[in-house]
Amino acid sequence: MILILAKKKKTMQTIRGFRDILPENIALWQKVEKEATRLFDAFGFKEIRIPVLEKTQLFSRSIGEATDIVEKEMYTFADRKGDKLTLRPEATASIVRSYIQHKMYATDPIRKFFMMGPMFRRERPQKGRYRQFYQIDAEVFGVESAYIDSQLIFILTELFKRLGLTGLSAHVNSLGCPDCRPSFQRALLDFIASKKDRLCDNCLRRIDKNPLRILDCKVTSCKDVLQDAPATLDHLCNHCEDHFATVKTTLETQGVDFIVDKSLVRGLDYYTRTAWEIQTTTLGAQSAVAGGGRYDGLVKELGGPQTPGIGFAIGFDRLVEVMEQLDKAPQATALDLFLICLGDMATEKGYHWSCALNQNGIRTEMDFRGKSMKALMKRANKLNAHYVLIAGEDELIQNAIILRDMNTKEQVSLPVETLVPELIKIFKK
Ligand code: ATP
Ligand code: MG
Repeated sequence: MILILAKKKKTMQTIRGFRDILPENIALWQKVEKEATRLFDAFGFKEIRIPVLEKTQLFSRSIGEATDIVEKEMYTFADRKGDKLTLRPEATASIVRSYIQHKMYATDPIRKFFMMGPMFRRERPQKGRYRQFYQIDAEVFGVESAYIDSQLIFILTELFKRLGLTGLSAHVNSLGCPDCRPSFQRALLDFIASKKDRLCDNCLRRIDKNPLRILDCKVTSCKDVLQDAPATLDHLCNHCEDHFATVKTTLETQGVDFIVDKSLVRGLDYYTRTAWEIQTTTLGAQSAVAGGGRYDGLVKELGGPQTPGIGFAIGFDRLVEVMEQLDKAPQATALDLFLICLGDMATEKGYHWSCALNQNGIRTEMDFRGKSMKALMKRANKLNAHYVLIAGEDELIQNAIILRDMNTKEQVSLPVETLVPELIKIFKK
């Protein structure tokens, strides 16, 4: 006898590093979105929505050819006409493009934006690191003052405080400007000169392309070599020195805890002067929940007028993971009312009642499968309904629809004609 084994059909799965965020896990995401939007609004930030797909050149020119993102993490492909396109790995470049494209500088050079949305980087997936991940991003254009640097760090700490986060620390550094960078680069190259044999191939290439990147290398042997490397902080020009001093004193007087971290470089080329990261102790290796910095040359570099810029990005997925660990999930919202309508006539009436209640913001549901009273009671319990409404043939004839409080088991009867307004009164109390 030949046994024909039915081949089990393989179900479709998400791509590696991509994931669904399911309704049962969405409460924290929504809580963060709400708090962030409220905070941005109070500080005068306007929401901007940018495309997920841009010309590859936008990212290679802004983030920098010799960075991890551009060298190996971007999702880049040719479209049908052969144009090279990239799924956005971050938001700053696109927002700068938008600022220039719409000549926003002409009507009002000072602009504050925020956005929330997915970013794409082809990294090795692990906890806190995904190929599609989400960022909350804020950018300020046209303000050179160091107060804005402090204010952005303040906004981050305020948001995290409102979300109840603990165990976070702000690491702050200054990367200098085009005036002081050459002196720092010379010092760095002198330092490395005798240690080239211990650097990875990537770093050896970076020596010519962008030496600052070497300080950001994650390879252990490179990290060891660079432990005593010169720091940008020791090579700041007077302007950068003053700028950084204002950032620090402002943060101090505002009571924002921070650590000056000489080794903080950030993985993108466009940063100048202040750069920072908010780190957590709760996520193991993926310790940065947010990063930001000033980019005074980027608007010009991408074809706009000389305009200072500064911004930050919060790793939304990591933020949610920290909140999960701290058990900051809000209670799931329960159903206000479940309608148990037995028979065709009651079902038809119930359908209209439920829509009217929904319109009035009352969380109401009913079941249209013609199930028994017992089965529908079970469903009401499953949906965690606060009240059930019971309407069968008898209740309709007697003009007495039953409303039962599922917690106290108390019941009241309501007449059909005034049922909806009566219910609205009860629920809006
Ligand atoms: P990391 O050093 O962890 O790779 P990064 O410096 O590349 O971070 P940024 O480009 O500064 O990250 O992005 C800002 C924030 O976005 C990070 O602090 C982090 O919280 C989050 N982030 C970056 N890459 C990922 C990713 N692949 N998955 C989830 N979150 C990420
Ligand atoms: Mg990275």
